[in-house]
Amino acid sequence: MRRERVADDIYIFTSELYAQVTAGLVVTPQGAVLIDTMVFPEEARMINRFVQERLNTTVRFIINTHYHADHTYGNCFFDNAIIVGHEICYRLLNEIGRASLAEAKQSSSVFEEVEIRLPNIVFNTGSLELRLAGKTLELEHLPGHSPDSITVYVREDRVLFAGDLLMPIPFFVDGSFEDFRQSLMRIKGRGYENVIQGHGDVILRGEIEDKIDEDLSYLSQIESYASRALSERKPYDFLETIDVEKVGKSRILLNGGVEGLHQQNLRNLYDYLASAEK
Ligand SMILES: [Zn+2]
Repeated sequence: MRRERVADDIYIFTSELYAQVTAGLVVTPQGAVLIDTMVFPEEARMINRFVQERLNTTVRFIINTHYHADHTYGNCFFDNAIIVGHEICYRLLNEIGRASLAEAKQSSSVFEEVEIRLPNIVFNTGSLELRLAGKTLELEHLPGHSPDSITVYVREDRVLFAGDLLMPIPFFVDGSFEDFRQSLMRIKGRGYENVIQGHGDVILRGEIEDKIDEDLSYLSQIESYASRALSERKPYDFLETIDVEKVGKSRILLNGGVEGLHQQNLRNLYDYLASAEK
């Protein structure tokens, strides 16, 4: 796991075991706030040791940006932390999250000790503010990657934890293409200092608007390919010819994992458009 510091009181952890997923830590004199908790117990425990032994504090709050395993399985390794998330996150983690953890336990002993821990505090309006010893964290519901996705903005440092609204390639198969586009538009032009993606590298001030524009352009391009596929005799075969480089993304991103995500996006969007046509 890689650790870096992006501001005096803000650390980022990046997994070397699973898809460069990130977790963030905001440290205050009244304890730390952890944003997402990794998928493997080993990495969650490493974060906890760092907080306790190196920073001499504890994780007082956890914020889950959404219910997916790679952002929530580590919740159970932080005793006494209060977990905050969207109300939909609570529901999906309770239903889908529990079921998929049971399945994961069947196939690997790595998850033996993992238990689902649900948010203790939920919100169902557009936003929630968490204030702790001089830090203001603004939680905002910005769905698209999943119905429950939120972002976390640390106002004093102008740092945004984007969750999976930003990752090397947009991925909306468990969410909604249209929501994704709307949510990206919402975070444009806000003057962030740093943006932490749910997966991949930290985005610096000068690169943020370009990254958002690139993702919006990606969405428009796959939209036009998916609608062109409607008039193809073999639409899935046609979509397979549209590789990720045709729509302006490098195929080495996420250690080569982007092509698979991209193909799922194309099919998902095509299926949606095809069903809407009927
Ligand atoms: Zn993720």
